Amino acid sequence: MRITITLLIIWLIIVPIASQQVRISVFNETPVKSVVISSLKGNYEIYCDDNFLQELKPTEVIYISLINNNLAVRNSKELVGVFSSVRFHEVDSNSVIRLNLISPNAIVRQFDGNMKVTVAYNRLLLINEIDCDKYIAGVVEAESGSTADAEFYKAQSILARTYLYGHYYRHETEGFQLCDAVHCQAYNGRSVRNPVIVQATKATSGMVVVGADSSFITAVFHANCGGQTVSASNAWLSERAYLQPVKDPFCQNSSSAHWSKKVSLYEWKTYLKGHGVKIKSGVAAGSFDCSQINRKQFYRVLADSVPTKQIRSDFQLKSTFFSVIATETDVTINGRGFGHGVGLCQEGAIQMAKIGYKCNDILAYYYKDIRVVKYSQVMGVFVK
Ligand SMILES: [Zn+2]
Ligand SMILES: [Zn+2]
Repeated sequence: MRITITLLIIWLIIVPIASQQVRISVFNETPVKSVVISSLKGNYEIYCDDNFLQELKPTEVIYISLINNNLAVRNSKELVGVFSSVRFHEVDSNSVIRLNLISPNAIVRQFDGNMKVTVAYNRLLLINEIDCDKYIAGVVEAESGSTADAEFYKAQSILARTYLYGHYYRHETEGFQLCDAVHCQAYNGRSVRNPVIVQATKATSGMVVVGADSSFITAVFHANCGGQTVSASNAWLSERAYLQPVKDPFCQNSSSAHWSKKVSLYEWKTYLKGHGVKIKSGVAAGSFDCSQINRKQFYRVLADSVPTKQIRSDFQLKSTFFSVIATETDVTINGRGFGHGVGLCQEGAIQMAKIGYKCNDILAYYYKDIRVVKYSQVMGVFVK
C-alpha cells in the first residue's frame, strides 16, 4: 500500500512536468528596459494582469517599457495602460512571436510558444513558455550549428533534454526552469536554420541519458577533444563514472584539432616567475619544453609547476592539451582540441554521424556505461 501511494505521488509529480511546456527566461543576462513585440506568424491573445486586452495580428506591434517598476504598454495608437504582467498567448499552435529590444539594442529574436513579460530586479523579465521539444531544437541549433547530420542532432537533443530535466529546478525561485545563457544552455530562440534539427528533436522526444545509478548524467560536451577526452576530475568536476578518458580518432581532421600560438621567451619567463616558478639566469631555453602525450593537469617546468588550466585561461588558449617548444627568442605552444575535453566531443560526434554511427552509439562512445531511456523511467528524480 505504501509503495502504491509512493508511486502515485511520484507519478503526480512527474506527469505534470512531462506534459508541461517549459519556461525559459530569454535575454536573461540583458538588462532589458524596453521591447517591441510583434507576431511573425499566427495570432496571439494579449492579457494584461490576467485580463484580456486585445488580439495581436501579424501586422501589429506592442511596445512595452519599464516605468516605476511596472510595464507601460502601448499599441500603435496609444498608451493602453500600466500593468505588472503582460502575456502573449498563441491562438494557433504554430505561431511565432518576435522580440525586438529597444533598450538596450540587441538583435531581433523569434520564438515559438507564448511570451510572458513581468518586472524583476529593475528590468523586464521575458519568459518564453514553450513546448519542450521546440525549446530543445533551439538549444541544439545554438549549441552545435546547422550543418551536421541527423544522428548527431539526435545525440545533441538527448543531451540538451537531459540537462533540462537534470536542472529543472535551477531557477525555480525566479519563476522559470532555465535561462537562455551559458549558465544553463544557450538558447537564441526557435530553430530556423536546418529542418533536420527539429526532426531529430521530435524523433528523440522524451529521451534522456542516465548513468549506472539511473540518475541523469551531467551532460557535458565540448567542441573538439584533440584526440583524447579527459575524466571529469581531470578537468573541474568531481569524479563521474561515465566521464572517463576516451581515445577519439574521429575529430582529428577538424579545423580546431590542431592549433599553435607563439609568445616571446621573455614574456613566457616573466609569466612563469609571476606564478612562482624559480628561474635562474642563464637557464637553457630547452628547459621550458614539455609535451603531452596524454592530457596533463600541470605544466612541469624546472622544479615547479603551473596548472595547465591557468595557462589556458591566461593565454586564451583553445585547450589545456598543448606542448611547449622554446628557442632563444620565442616559445611556441602547439595545441590540440578546443574546449575542456570532458564528455562528448562535438566534432568527433559529427564525424561519427557522417560515417554512419547511430545516436545511441555516439553517446555510448563518449559516456561510459550509460543508458538512453524515456525520462518517465527516471523515477524519483523530480522528488525534492
Ligand atoms: Zn541559468
Ligand atoms: Zn574528439
